[in-house]
Amino acid sequence: MLPLERKKRIKALIEKESHMKITELSKRFSVSEMTIHRDIKPLLEEGCITKTFGGVSWNHESNEPKAHYQGCTLCGRGYSERLAYRLILLSQQTETACCAHCGLLRHHQIEDEVMQAICPDFLTNTTISALLAWFVLDTSVHMGCCHPQILTFESRENAEKFVKGFGGHVYSFEEAKTILLEKMNGLQNSCHAQK
Ligand SMILES: [Zn+2]
Ligand SMILES: [Zn+2]
Repeated sequence: MLPLERKKRIKALIEKESHMKITELSKRFSVSEMTIHRDIKPLLEEGCITKTFGGVSWNHESNEPKAHYQGCTLCGRGYSERLAYRLILLSQQTETACCAHCGLLRHHQIEDEVMQAICPDFLTNTTISALLAWFVLDTSVHMGCCHPQILTFESRENAEKFVKGFGGHVYSFEEAKTILLEKMNGLQNSCHAQK
């Protein structure tokens, strides 16, 4: 096996196994431990792996920053499950936005990669599909997240009842997204519009 090929396989193997012993790698590839140390040196330098006792570990955090990232995927603020909007991507990764505002903007940015989007029903807190949800804008109830604020409801009837009591307008997914994008284009100076 060519050294380059071996290096590639070593990298793939550590990634798959998460942790490998140097002795194990040396046996598997029938090369000396010295050679393994030389092969993994660039991986250590790149930060892909870290040395552990007698072996090496795949450094997941440096490779998948989003998987361990706690803030909103778009604006970075901390979020609560009460408003969180989740995007499940084709790559099986999940991105979480602090609220439907950031959720819809992010959804629009990476539309082709999104497999599913979910958000909570504002009244019952149950998880619903964002594509089928009803979105309330311009209501008098303020949740303290992003502006313009968007609340999500499972049923149109409940959304309309809510609007009767607290003001605002009810929109479908596509309508809400279009209106939000229009509003954001008019607010180019907002920190959210830049991301
Ligand atoms: Zn956000
Ligand atoms: Zn938000």
